[in-house]
Amino acid sequence: MEGSPVVAIVGRPNVGKSTLFNRILGQRTAVVEDRARTTRDRLYGAAEWEGRRFIVVDTGGLEARPGDAIEAKVQEQARVAIREADVIVLVVDAAAGLAPGDLEAADLLRSARVPVVVAVNKADNQRLDLEAVEFPRLGWAELHPVSALHGRGTGELLDAIATALPPAPEGPGSAAAAWDAQVAADAERARRPVAIAILGRPNVGKSSLLNALLGEERTIVSELPGTTRDAIDTPLERGGQAVTLIDTAGIRRRGKVASGPAAERFSTLRALRALSRAEVAILVIDAAEGLTAQDAHIAGYVVEEGRGLVVALNKWDLVEKDGRTFDGYVAAIRGETPFLDFAPVVAVSARTGLRVGRALDAALEIAAERRRRVPTGELNRELAEAAFRNEPPMVRGRRPKLFYGTQASVAPPTFVVFARHADAVHFSYRRYLENRLRGAFGFEGTPIRIVFRERSREPRGPRTDRRAAAPSGGDGRRRRRR
Ligand code: GDP
Ligand code: GDP
Repeated sequence: MEGSPVVAIVGRPNVGKSTLFNRILGQRTAVVEDRARTTRDRLYGAAEWEGRRFIVVDTGGLEARPGDAIEAKVQEQARVAIREADVIVLVVDAAAGLAPGDLEAADLLRSARVPVVVAVNKADNQRLDLEAVEFPRLGWAELHPVSALHGRGTGELLDAIATALPPAPEGPGSAAAAWDAQVAADAERARRPVAIAILGRPNVGKSSLLNALLGEERTIVSELPGTTRDAIDTPLERGGQAVTLIDTAGIRRRGKVASGPAAERFSTLRALRALSRAEVAILVIDAAEGLTAQDAHIAGYVVEEGRGLVVALNKWDLVEKDGRTFDGYVAAIRGETPFLDFAPVVAVSARTGLRVGRALDAALEIAAERRRRVPTGELNRELAEAAFRNEPPMVRGRRPKLFYGTQASVAPPTFVVFARHADAVHFSYRRYLENRLRGAFGFEGTPIRIVFRERSREPRGPRTDRRAAAPSGGDGRRRRRR
């Protein structure tokens, strides 16, 4: 099974690609929006429409060679998109009208075997739809007028994108069907081998790590003719637990391999697709370089997908170290990517075998943490204590009040907290609660999600037990943390 399909947005500069990208990602929940704020200039993000999940890429961020003419840039984006994407969205600008660059990109895209959806952007009103008469010259019968800025027509555009996606493994379906499938998949997953993806930039040592884990030198079987695979799965056993290692190194697509930074960054997508089949990622980074912006992008995506994460600081054999070196590395990583503070860092050497087993064990522990459930009573004692010690701050004149919470799902652990003024819970307060829950219950290595739901008043009747534990309650506030 392949991972999430990829939707690439291409088009000339300034037609509104990144606005559309953000608009599409904005259709997701507030939980994800909070995350988005922590990584700027993102190139890819996970989107969902009518229960279909896919990865969106803003190719505008893939500035290949800054000196290139605009036309060359657009063509390069189109070429890479043709090779790597499952659906391409060609964005043109209704306000600017048809430009030569649009036609050249269209020429390339017409030869693609991937479906192309044409978005005529900046169609902020109907008059602009009508002015868009020249766009049929691009060669597609169906054009989708949208205003990425105002949201006009984006629902229809997403419908068209969703229709063009390759069929879902579980069949097309509503959000409810997708949810049921998810629940079934969780149960099924608990019985199956734990899938661990080894991610990272080229040359950080992914293949070497895989080999070290397998305890033998071993050539990775290259892609079978006639198939396109994003990754190679290797079964393994560790302490009686079946594991599938998903290795994303060394895979090449058939056909001409484009070079250059755009192609390289795009290749990250294969890793991201592999991730959608994994429970935990081992993000391999090179100790000599530390955590780069590209690593942070990948890690941000791991968090967004709710997967577990271990950071493997590889090539530790090359580092000149004393007793404080490792802590220094960890502090640097934490400082640059505070949203990863839940992820353990393990210094390894794929070359000497140092702690490679520890990295794998950490991944397996995280897989177990992801499936843990906290009893509602314990959860509410912790929430009460947290709110008592630190009341939610006032946001635009409204102070949220937490009533009670429940763990709605596992993998990743997801908590629903009912509150008055739920929409006014500040990002920093969400972080605070997250830290409290981690302090009380663990969940090392896995993202956790907290969803605030509006409740105008405290529940009554059978819920009085919870009420006692609610933030305003008498006893709950004095109960000690375990
Ligand atoms: P990109 O270079 O293709 O990624 O384009 P951007 O997303 O950066 O947008 C370029 C400019 O067009 C920005 O000033 C946007 O605010 C503006 N823009 C994007 N979408 C729309 C739209 O739907 N309507 C209008 N009027 N302006 C838009
Ligand atoms: P990949 O592209 O991420 O799969 O990276 P490779 O596994 O092919 O490794 C890239 C290079 O780094 C190779 O020359 C490896 O021998 C070297 N390398 C990998 N791991 C280590 C390590 O732990 N220590 C040292 N010194 N070199 C390593």
